[in-house]
Amino acid sequence: SWSSSDSVISIESAGEPAEPESPYRVVLLGASGVGKTAFASIFAGAADSMDSDDCELYEVCEKDIEVDGEPATITLVDTWDTEADADWAHEQHMQTGDAYLLLYSITDRTSFLRASELRITLRRFCPAQNTPIILVGNKCDLVRRREVSATEGRACAAVFDCKFIETSAAMQHNIWEAFHGIVRQLRLRRDSREA
Ligand code: GDP
Repeated sequence: SWSSSDSVISIESAGEPAEPESPYRVVLLGASGVGKTAFASIFAGAADSMDSDDCELYEVCEKDIEVDGEPATITLVDTWDTEADADWAHEQHMQTGDAYLLLYSITDRTSFLRASELRITLRRFCPAQNTPIILVGNKCDLVRRREVSATEGRACAAVFDCKFIETSAAMQHNIWEAFHGIVRQLRLRRDSREA
């Protein structure tokens, strides 16, 4: 369309790479109950108009955000949890994501173990070494119910060669940091490809 060629011209004239950022497909993975829906609803609620009707929860939501002064478009995919479908659904999503947020709840050790399993499955389905993955310990507001320490989470992330962050969807703490972290990693990968 004229508008896209227009932007290419203006980018080229600015002396920068002509390749625009495409929407980044970010997939939420994790056991049932860890807070994926809560994450998705915070993301969906970030519409400029504060009107999130255009994003159905449990599905796919696309948003323009700004990270380090540069716009980025994220297509967020929330996986569904019904046990019968989980493996199949996860496998589908594991082949199509540009980046992954791998959630567990700090109040639920089983969900932490599940995150490890998902990381291993992800390695099988998504063998690219540099696919950005962040291990996310959610519900960090529930301090007295903590079953997984931040030290354990960080150690697990180190073993799995991914980033780590603790979040609270309930307190809206570190949720955007997680999304921004994903975009920064995707940009690093993009820039290293262009180099
Ligand atoms: P999902 O199954 O992974 O989509 O998990 P949900 O987003 O449905 O969350 C499961 C439950 O945990 C819900 O009752 C949420 O309100 C609650 N929850 C999600 N995130 C947090 C959090 O950060 N802190 C607390 N205290 N509760 C949370």
